[in-house]
Amino acid sequence: MSIYDSLGARTIINAKGTSTRVSGALLAPEVTAAMQQAGEYCVDMAELQAAASKIIAQATGAEAGIVTSGAAAGLLLGTAACVAGLDPVKMARLPDTSGLKNEVIMVRSQRNQYDHAIRAAGVHIVEVGLPDRVAGAGVRDAEPWEIAAAITERTAAIVYVAHSRSRPTIEEVARVANAKHIPLLVDAAAQLPPAANLRRFIAAGADLVAFSGGKAIGGPQGSGILCGGRDLIMSAVLQQLDMDIDWEQWSPPASLIDKSRLPGLPPHGIGRQCKVGKETIVGLLVALRRFLAEDDQSRHDRMLSLVKHLDSATGSLRNARTEVRTGGGSPSFIVTLERGSKMTGMEVCIALQNGTPSIHVDPSQAASGIIGFSPASLRPEDPAAIGRRLRELIG
Ligand SMILES: *Cc1c(COP(=O)(O)O)cnc(C)c1O
Repeated sequence: MSIYDSLGARTIINAKGTSTRVSGALLAPEVTAAMQQAGEYCVDMAELQAAASKIIAQATGAEAGIVTSGAAAGLLLGTAACVAGLDPVKMARLPDTSGLKNEVIMVRSQRNQYDHAIRAAGVHIVEVGLPDRVAGAGVRDAEPWEIAAAITERTAAIVYVAHSRSRPTIEEVARVANAKHIPLLVDAAAQLPPAANLRRFIAAGADLVAFSGGKAIGGPQGSGILCGGRDLIMSAVLQQLDMDIDWEQWSPPASLIDKSRLPGLPPHGIGRQCKVGKETIVGLLVALRRFLAEDDQSRHDRMLSLVKHLDSATGSLRNARTEVRTGGGSPSFIVTLERGSKMTGMEVCIALQNGTPSIHVDPSQAASGIIGFSPASLRPEDPAAIGRRLRELIG
């Protein structure tokens, strides 16, 4: 009986991947053990984040970094850092940004649901470019000169959502941001693997980069990384940490928070509600170490073997083609319904979800009869169970 059963909740088979809705990644035993140990001692949270900063700096090439409660929290903290800098008065005022730099520039085609995390800092988003290529009406998207033209004395940051399809390129956007001395905040939540992407955006000229900890890194589901320049990270962590202490008693680690540069102690900041526990920080750091220790090829091979197992457990289906897909990114297993199929793609997704065991899949192409299975969060026994269920439904 799992802990979930004993609490009155059921477990699912997660063939959707590391999506938050279906609880992200599975934790390696080494990560769970580290989290358990972390819970058996107390620490000073600023000192723990300073230790995290050194490890994250080494992994990303950034000057500093902190563990956040997810990439979205990193976007809020990063935006708040760009608005408030090291001024405790501004930190205390957020999300009231009247009179402050309160505009964030984004390419229109990169707008997405996580923008809420940016707007929560009190800024409003200035959209740039007409994404013709997304509409199918043309070939163009935003261009660097349009981003440059949108910069005003109110611009707090440029936000870039990293994806292989994102335009302009990160290098082009960084050139504009760096030349105008506007901080560039990158949402790289799901850009791992390859592991080289941990360093890629900082190397290209980004000032802050947010990653998810609960996706490919394999950290606790509610974890993330925000890395970047020393001052911006100092601002972000000041707005995240619990600040319930007197100025004279407060002696934060100078490597992360240089007290001598502050006129006073800010109160709990806008990121205090995105608190991360010691177990989360330790779990993320151990997961990051494991992620870096495995090269991309072995990670790929490990995923591919799960997918192949799923392919052989499924066998051949009536009125559906099966395929092991390896091109671009992580391997996946694809079921494509053929003309004779009695069920639509979405009907199959729903039936898998409502069956026993409940199987969650990638429905993004269900309208075309294509059902995707990701190996990222599968347990070793899952491929056999999925194959059995697929044969029952459409075999
Ligand atoms: C997953 C994701 C996020 C949110 O990450 P969390 O770690 O769940 O907060 C933000 N942006 C993008 C592009 C994502 O894919």
